[in-house]
Amino acid sequence: MNSLSIFAGLDADGVIRFVGDVPRGAECGCRCVACGSPLVAKQGDVRRWYFAHEASQERPDCFAGAVNLLRRIAIERLQQRVFPTLPVYRATVSTRPPLPQLQETVTWQAGEGRVEMWEPRFLQHAPVGLLRLSSGTAVRLYVEVDSVSTANLRPAPSHEGMLLVNVPLPPGAEALKDLSSAVQHIDAAATLEWIRLPDANSKISEVSEQVKERAKRLQHERAQFAARPTQWTDMPPPPQGSPSPPAEEVDESPWAAWRKPRSAFVHYGLRDGSAWVMFTHGDGRHVMAPWPSPGEGWDEELPARLGEPDLQLGVYVLKDQTQAMIYLGQMRPKVRSASNWAELVSIGPAA
Ligand SMILES: [Zn+2]
Repeated sequence: MNSLSIFAGLDADGVIRFVGDVPRGAECGCRCVACGSPLVAKQGDVRRWYFAHEASQERPDCFAGAVNLLRRIAIERLQQRVFPTLPVYRATVSTRPPLPQLQETVTWQAGEGRVEMWEPRFLQHAPVGLLRLSSGTAVRLYVEVDSVSTANLRPAPSHEGMLLVNVPLPPGAEALKDLSSAVQHIDAAATLEWIRLPDANSKISEVSEQVKERAKRLQHERAQFAARPTQWTDMPPPPQGSPSPPAEEVDESPWAAWRKPRSAFVHYGLRDGSAWVMFTHGDGRHVMAPWPSPGEGWDEELPARLGEPDLQLGVYVLKDQTQAMIYLGQMRPKVRSASNWAELVSIGPAA
């Protein structure tokens, strides 16, 4: 939760009104966009200007309603201006076990983007418009306020790119006291980030092959090193006294940066040789990854009721872990659990 209160509502004409743009009190006839209650403008100390609900209880989604109005302002702002310069696309490619883990960042200059179409309605988490790159590729444009995960965005077809304009909520109410402050905040704080750019796919697969080749050479060198005769100088003296401490978990998984440390992996080996691995995000969400590597179209393999693919994390974020277990259970998988990455790798491909 943040410290913000309701900063905007709709007046009788359906116009978005910020608390600092209306007279104090109920004179503007503004209503809460979520619950329809009349709003009262409270204007004391400017750091705490807000709309209160007149004689009724504010519900949790009332604030979300105001946030949605801010999203509309952000979309209008994009419509009014020359579209901002597109950011450089970045993707990380890494090798998978049993190869040693190497990784490399691929960058791609997206070039110019031109708005071809705006959607007639701006639905929650849906694209608001279509950009056309100079390469001819279509890119769906998403605008979100304070987006923490791309898992809930409605995915675009795989041949199209996905670009997110994210507007963070400001730390204090002053930046949202009136329309001009809100627009200033949007202009200064909004960021553009690529979720997907198909133009970069061929470079990504080229770099993946190069990294894989390097990893194979490294693996070969390690094998030769291990095969040479043992020399006394390689052997440290045996420790005296206390037994060695338990080994720290070494997580070389592609999810190491955000997986909940020391949480278990559950491996569902399916009859067609593919598998899913279920585990826990550091923020407590249950996720499921295609195993051992994501195949083409992995993000369309599960029914939407189970969860949403997060293309950045490369996993499905599960809505309900039990439902996902039931769904997989119907496929009669071979279920194995692993307490760490090394154990998971040792399960190997599903037999
Ligand atoms: Zn309300």
